[in-house]
Amino acid sequence: MLREDTNARFEPGFMRRRFVSGRREFAFISGGVHRAILREQESVPVAVAEDERRTWWMFRGRFFWEDDGLEADEVMALVHERERRLRRRIERAKDMMLAEGEAPGPRREGIPEDVRREVFRRDGGRCAVCGDDALLQFDHVIPVALGGASSPENLQLLCAPCNREKGADLS
Ligand SMILES: [Zn+2]
Repeated sequence: MLREDTNARFEPGFMRRRFVSGRREFAFISGGVHRAILREQESVPVAVAEDERRTWWMFRGRFFWEDDGLEADEVMALVHERERRLRRRIERAKDMMLAEGEAPGPRREGIPEDVRREVFRRDGGRCAVCGDDALLQFDHVIPVALGGASSPENLQLLCAPCNREKGADLS
């Protein structure tokens, strides 16, 4: 297991430094060793402290601990994997936020979440008419009132202005 340790830091002392994690304090190191760690951790994870259970690593300005006795390249691989996962989660969250954008006008309940996501992806997160990517709403091509289904084939993404214009054309 590898975890980021946001309570870890190097505490300055007179001509020396000490690694600290929360309230745990480790042995002092010289300023020279500290500078060498800072240099090296820019390219590879560097082990900076350990106890009976954990090893702490510094990598690109952040601290991690692990309890699997990992090598530097394994720590690096896990950190990269965490970041990929995090970025994917952020992308998904952004998609969902856009796809569920608080839109005025008729409620869209009845459009299942997986359908919304599919339509959002298919339309590339852009208005099907003008290509804008703001103020997006789900539009029934054939209105529900006229028997249009809430299926991907009958749904499109429209920005609010294009949706209003379409509404005006219909009435
Ligand atoms: Zn538009």
